[in-house]
Amino acid sequence: MNIRGARLKATAAASDLHRKLNLRSEIREGLRPIDVYKSIIDLDVPLLFRPLEGVLGVYLSSPEKGILISSSDALNPARQRYTAAHELGHLCMGHGNSVDDAHNINDQESLQRAETAPTDVPIFEAEAEMFASEFLMPKALIVSTCKKMGLNKAGIMNPKNVYQLALRLGTSYQATCYALRSNELVSFQALNRLTQFTPKQIKQECIDEGTSIEHPHSDVILLDKTDHGRQLLLKPGDHVIMSLPEHTSGGFQWTVPDISPLVHWLDDKRSGASPEGVFGSPVLRHLTFTGESKVDLLLTECRSWGDREYINQFGINVDFRGREEGLPRVAREAL
Ligand SMILES: [Zn+2]
Repeated sequence: MNIRGARLKATAAASDLHRKLNLRSEIREGLRPIDVYKSIIDLDVPLLFRPLEGVLGVYLSSPEKGILISSSDALNPARQRYTAAHELGHLCMGHGNSVDDAHNINDQESLQRAETAPTDVPIFEAEAEMFASEFLMPKALIVSTCKKMGLNKAGIMNPKNVYQLALRLGTSYQATCYALRSNELVSFQALNRLTQFTPKQIKQECIDEGTSIEHPHSDVILLDKTDHGRQLLLKPGDHVIMSLPEHTSGGFQWTVPDISPLVHWLDDKRSGASPEGVFGSPVLRHLTFTGESKVDLLLTECRSWGDREYINQFGINVDFRGREEGLPRVAREAL
């Protein structure tokens, strides 16, 4: 199989679809994951989530086009999105009906090996896998998101940073590692090192020593002021930790909106208090929360007295609803 030819075809098809669906400006902005479900619906292709056993996704090309994705526990939201992007790949590249199990999907590792050695992966499955990666993680989106995060070439070789990048892209850690390699942003050696780590090992580094996360599958996303305006696709119970500079010496502090039960505040503390006599240097305020629904959060940094005029704002949109079931939420919300 000509893997390089398959990659070129898949990359061109993903790029054409980004252009057709006017996604290029948001890709350059680097503030949100690609909405694969909305993309499928915008193409007027029916999309449904059902608890399939042993099958991750199905693409029907005839008699009517349609995509079916498993809603079983085996798929976390990132894997559901990747599976949908794989089936969208079959659609965009004119393939026939396809029933995909775990052997066909998220098999990026075998594709990496196939670049240097023969493989038994059918060409249309390789193309769909490459399309999924290119559609959800085009190089321009990886680069724009890394820029926002202040990551350079050395920074993306650090597993903790790749884990944080994956959470911003709404993709799995493993798939993100392979996308970094296929876009030639890291070397083979760096890829091999990155894939030796598991998200479980990495996320423990993202929280304070001694702190434990309630659910072992919960993720921990670390945000700072550069994430203002970001949209996140998370799961119920994932932890969001925002670290924002606070100008306490000037009498300013971040106001935490009381929007329970949409948001559960878990922790609120400050670090890096200025040494005596250093006036005006900000401290960092660390706010941790979790949730189960979709929430627009807007924090303002203002004085607790007087006119309450703010000097800074920090807004994010977090969707904690996780795995899809039945009709996609974006279709239900449009009804
Ligand atoms: Zn397939």
